[in-house]
Amino acid sequence: MAGKRVWVAGHRGMVGAAIVRRLAAEDCEVLTCGRDEVDLRRQAETSAWIAKTRPDAIFLAAAKVGGIGANAAYPADFLFDNLMIEANVIEAAHREGVGKLLFLGSSCIYPKMAAQPITEDALLTGPLEPTNEWYAIAKIAGLKLALAYRQQHGDDFISAMPTNLYGPGDNFDLENSHVLPALIRKAHEAKVRGEVSFDVWGSGTPRREFLHVDDCADALVHLMTSYSGDQHVNVGYGDDIAIADLAQLVADAVGFKGDIAWDRSKPDGTPRKLMDAGKLAALGWTPRIDLKRGVEDVYAWFLAHQA
Ligand code: GDP
Repeated sequence: MAGKRVWVAGHRGMVGAAIVRRLAAEDCEVLTCGRDEVDLRRQAETSAWIAKTRPDAIFLAAAKVGGIGANAAYPADFLFDNLMIEANVIEAAHREGVGKLLFLGSSCIYPKMAAQPITEDALLTGPLEPTNEWYAIAKIAGLKLALAYRQQHGDDFISAMPTNLYGPGDNFDLENSHVLPALIRKAHEAKVRGEVSFDVWGSGTPRREFLHVDDCADALVHLMTSYSGDQHVNVGYGDDIAIADLAQLVADAVGFKGDIAWDRSKPDGTPRKLMDAGKLAALGWTPRIDLKRGVEDVYAWFLAHQA
């Protein structure tokens, strides 16, 4: 990346911000633009920005994101905004001759019933999870668009599919967040209020994979600098953990000594969600931040940013 002009699209999001932090270690010029400055859903604005700034490489981490509730409430926004953002950026990157582009997807592109651990070639082999199919359809279209430009025009556009990410800047809202930030907040508040237990949803038996966003950013820089190929690449931790064990790990990190109260009125969701990270490992990258250290790191961030 030395001497390159690198645009991180979506630098205010959790992943984009981590990419910007990671690029500080590279000898490159980082370009960013705020939503107020350029609305990536508008083709003319997006083209003008790329023509003006002429990046050598683009991390396409801009997206409308959210959990089950948001997907159900705003299906049109999830599909339209994400289709527009990726189509505008990819097409303009082609027209302006941008040398490299990395499109970011998500593990939700894979079929609901995909065999575990999920390999890259499980894509489009079965029906999607209906609760986030708006987002998933847009992300599958983005991945295919990058591939189409690669095949038709020879553009060096690649795609990466990260697993569940956590880290600084995460969403700690109890209703809409994912399990890891929710448990950090619940354990912390139970400790501060001197309560005897905190609530964890479901049975504790489902298993989930978690990757620290700084590891993810490091993997994305690795792919950006060393991978060129048609197939998208999973970015995973390579291991998963039962929710019950996660809850205990969080309680320990927070210093909460009480019990865990299982709220079985809440759904477990899918029993297991683990990506096969073998392709990324074969490309020479493995994660460095284990879950214990990662949770301690996020708890420190939470304490500093609670207000
Ligand atoms: P999923 O991976 O799409 O199912 O998303 P989540 O991160 O929301 O949930 C993962 C698992 O954690 C599910 O089995 C939830 O029932 C369980 N879980 C336990 N406590 C909580 C909580 O407080 N919030 C959330 N979001 N999930 C929880």
